[in-house]
Amino acid sequence: MEEDRIYSELKRYFGFTSFRPLQKEIVTAVLGGHDVVVLMPTGGGKSICYQLPAMMMDGVTIVISPLISLMKDQVDNLIASGIPAAAYNSTISFSELNAIERRCRNKEIRLLYMSPETALSLKDSWLSHIPIALFAIDEAHCISQWGPDFRPEYSRLAQLREAFPHVPLLGLTATADKVTRKDIIRQLKMRDPSVFIASFHRPNLHLSVVKGLKKREKDQMIHTFLALHPHQSGIIYCLSRNTTDKVAAMLRLMGHSAAAYHAGMLPDERQQVQEAFVNDRISIVCATVAFGMGIDKSNVRWVIHYNMPSSLEAYYQEIGRSGRDGLPAETILFYSYSDVVQWGKMAAQSSQRDMLTKRLESMQQYAEASICRTRILLNYFGEPYDGHCGHCDVCRSQPQEFDGTIVAQKLFSAIVRTGEKYGLFPIIDVLMGRYSPVVKRDRLDTIRTFGVGRDCTWSQWQDYALQLLQMGYLEIVYDESNRLVVTGMGRRVLLGGEKVRLVILQQKEEEKVVRQRRRKQALPVMPGWEASLEEDLTLFQHLKTLRMQLARAKKVPPYVIFSDKVLHDISRLQPTSLEAFGQLPGVGEYKCSHYGSDFVQLVCEYKEGCKG
Ligand code: ADP
Ligand code: ZN
Repeated sequence: MEEDRIYSELKRYFGFTSFRPLQKEIVTAVLGGHDVVVLMPTGGGKSICYQLPAMMMDGVTIVISPLISLMKDQVDNLIASGIPAAAYNSTISFSELNAIERRCRNKEIRLLYMSPETALSLKDSWLSHIPIALFAIDEAHCISQWGPDFRPEYSRLAQLREAFPHVPLLGLTATADKVTRKDIIRQLKMRDPSVFIASFHRPNLHLSVVKGLKKREKDQMIHTFLALHPHQSGIIYCLSRNTTDKVAAMLRLMGHSAAAYHAGMLPDERQQVQEAFVNDRISIVCATVAFGMGIDKSNVRWVIHYNMPSSLEAYYQEIGRSGRDGLPAETILFYSYSDVVQWGKMAAQSSQRDMLTKRLESMQQYAEASICRTRILLNYFGEPYDGHCGHCDVCRSQPQEFDGTIVAQKLFSAIVRTGEKYGLFPIIDVLMGRYSPVVKRDRLDTIRTFGVGRDCTWSQWQDYALQLLQMGYLEIVYDESNRLVVTGMGRRVLLGGEKVRLVILQQKEEEKVVRQRRRKQALPVMPGWEASLEEDLTLFQHLKTLRMQLARAKKVPPYVIFSDKVLHDISRLQPTSLEAFGQLPGVGEYKCSHYGSDFVQLVCEYKEGCKG
């Protein structure tokens, strides 16, 4: 069946056993020969939407891509998975171009990347003689004059439809607005396309905003942040070229491997910085907005905005470059009034003044928000969301409610069964099953509620009781040694099953410690997740070293060999056979047969070493 085949090819070439949201529907629509438009956030998994069909269809898939660096990355990635792909552009020698042409005629190449200009210039020559299965137009929003990345050559792409009327078109973009979407469909002359809009919610991105810091304070915070995130890849976005140089120099002084990147540098210098970053030779790039597009590096672990960006579009795209592998990533926005003033001035001088001012206002509202930041972002991008994301600083600092009915019933039951004769502390002793003097004296351990509340801590019981008192479910009889009684309202919860909502008190004591320690440093880091990866970190480091060696030998970026996610899985699950290794998500057939034995051997040796 087609569906089974989709899954088997997904595992075979990409190593995945499940699809991200909408991928399967999109792949099915593309295989069905429809025109398709895909809107997905950066990191959502757009590439699979044409790369998988390309492996299942007869003929060559032509991928239109605006940047040569983007092509190279993607092609490297595909070849490392055993997929025959190539880029056709000016960086390639004449004889190589000929070879590509020949291999396309023979249907040896399945994915061919080129710029719109190249595609248009070749449409009447050899492109018309090869079997083309699909045109996949990446960064399709470049077609829209209204967007920030308008490229005139994109607007001529309808000529492809005219020259190849039977070849389906697939447009992909991470830019969400309606005008652009319509522009893509209209300008490409798409025929009744299926439009897929994925959620822009990225739960693995932790969002924080820090207001009003002076330069010195920002630097101090970055310093502390880096101490907590050693050797991780990250980007610091700055407003001016000058700032990128200064921040990079400061970081180098502190002993970090950092470089600046901005449009004022020579193309060669820029290329070097980008390559060093992609290949994990430097960890941090301090950049203006010039940096980022065309970088598919999946293990960017954090993004800091040293200055506020001019719009939420820019902000979301920039933070979206972190955590593409789906692992948690930190983002921090430094927000200060002087940034607003500076952007405001620029907007006032622009011909698009109204639009820019509006965008700036939305950006500012986001930074000043006192409600969930995810909610503001998603609503801004036209996606209804009224939740409480739990991964932004606002959610983290605001009380979160839960259904406290069972908690309340346990507490009320303990009070009632002990005859409403006791104050709070003996009641908590009973709930937690403690043999305190009062419990022993009055044989409270014999009642049925004894020990039913061990799932909460002492301070949680104290806190929940206080909340229930304040809401009128309990009362204290002050003139009778502060004994607790359950009110009529409380009895309706205990016996009638009425619901109660309570505010969560932080679950774990150690989390509180982490929070306090971090608060002292005033760092907006989410507690808990770093420790949540139950794995062997020493092994992880060894795996990273092996990955680097393989990457150097193959002359590809390390994440192209395997993503951080795969390395984390290896160090957690520690497969000692090729078969087990091949089952890990992200390990396809080709990678398993090429790199599997090296990794498995490392795991075996490591485990032996641990025993001895
Ligand atoms: P986009 O082009 O939308 O920014 P990519 O296609 O580069 O996103 O995918 C982002 C990351 O997600 C890549 O590291 C890719 O390997 C991973 N990915 C894509 N699809 C899946 C999937 N079905 N399961 C697991 N990981 C996936
Ligand atoms: Zn939130």
